[in-house]
Amino acid sequence: MVYKTLGKTGLKVSTIGFGTSPLGAEFGKIDPEEGQRAVDYAIDNGINYFDAAPYYGRTLAETRIGKFLEGKRDKVILTSKACRYDITDFEFTAKRVMRSIEQSLKRLRTDHLDLYQVHDVEYGNIEQVVGDVLPAMFKLKQQGKVRFVGITGYPLTPLRKIAETEDIDTVLTYCRYNLMDTTMDDILTPVIRSRGIGLINASPLHMRVLTDKGAPAWHPAPKQVFEIAREAAVLCRQQGTTISDLALQFALAHKDVSITLVGMTKVHHVDVNIKVVGTQPDPQLLARVREIIKPVANIYWKEGLPENDDPGAIEKRTLGTERTEKIKKEKKG
Ligand code: NAD
Repeated sequence: MVYKTLGKTGLKVSTIGFGTSPLGAEFGKIDPEEGQRAVDYAIDNGINYFDAAPYYGRTLAETRIGKFLEGKRDKVILTSKACRYDITDFEFTAKRVMRSIEQSLKRLRTDHLDLYQVHDVEYGNIEQVVGDVLPAMFKLKQQGKVRFVGITGYPLTPLRKIAETEDIDTVLTYCRYNLMDTTMDDILTPVIRSRGIGLINASPLHMRVLTDKGAPAWHPAPKQVFEIAREAAVLCRQQGTTISDLALQFALAHKDVSITLVGMTKVHHVDVNIKVVGTQPDPQLLARVREIIKPVANIYWKEGLPENDDPGAIEKRTLGTERTEKIKKEKKG
C-alpha cells in the first residue's frame, strides 16, 4: 500500500480509501458476510481509510461498518457526514448536526470520528452552511468528538467557494476526476493546493460506469456515456486488462489527491484494486481509451440547488421519484 498525507490534517492515509455506500446497498443488494470479509481483507492489506454517511442505505452502511469494525476501530481512520439523510431529505442546521453526530457515533460504535463532513453542500444555502453548519462542526472539533472537519459535494463551484474562505481540513468531490471527467482540476484543485486542504477524490469508477458490469439504473449520466464506456471496456479486455484497473490507475496518478475513494463490498474487488496501487497504465492503451471517451468526456450534470450549479451542467437523466423507484427496484432485485 502507498500512504499519503491528507493535507494539513497530517493524517497518513492509504491512497485507496474504502467507500461504504455500496455496503448500504446503494448499488443493489449485497451479502453482508462477504462485506465483513472485504473490510477485514482491506485492513489486513493496508487500507486504513473508511468513508461512511447516514445517507448510505439510510443508516444501513453506518450500522454495518460499525459492526464490521468492532475491535478494529483503532486501526482505521473513520469518517462520516451530516446534513443529507435521503434523496430529498436534507437539513443544513447546527441543531441537526449536533443530533446527527450522536446517532452516527452510536451506529459506528465509537466515541469520536476522525473526519466529519458536510454531505453534499450543493443542496444547502451556502451562507447557511458557512454560518450555521460549519461552526457546529468546529465546536465538535473543540469537544474532541471529531478530529477534523470537511465538506463534500458534486458541483465544484460551491466547494471552491467554501474552500476559499473557510478553515476546513478536507474537500471530497466525486465523479469529477476520472477517465470520464477531469474538470476537478479546472475548478477546484488549484484552490485546494494553495490552501493546503486535503483532497479526496471519490468514484474513480464513475459510480460503476467504468467497470465490466456497467452503470446502475439510477446513474444520472446520459446513455451515450454508458455506451462509450462499454466500447472502452471491450478494448481493455482485448488488451488483457480491465477498464476498472485502467480507471483506477488513472485516478491514483493524481498528485494532489491524497485518497482515491472506491466503493467495495467484495474481497475480490478489494484485492484487484489494491493490486493496482503502484502500477502504471499502459500509455498506448490509455491514449486509445481517452480517444474513445473524447465525445462524452467532461459531461457533468446538475445536482443540488440551481444557485449552486456549475456553468455548463446538463439535466440529470432521471430525477426525483422516478429515481427513488429505480433504487427501490434494484434493492429488491
Ligand atoms: P465507485 O466509482 O467507487 O464505484 C463503486 C462500484 O464499483 C460498486 O458497485 C463496486 O462494487 C464496484 N467496484 C469496485 N471495485 C471494482 C472492481 N475492481 N471491478 C468492478 N467493480 C468494482 O463509486 P462510489 O461507490 O459511488 O464512490 C466511492 C465512495 O466514495 C462511495 O462508496 C462513498 O463512500 C464515497 N462517495 C462520497 C460522496 C459524497 O460524500 N458526496 C459521493 C460519492 C461517493
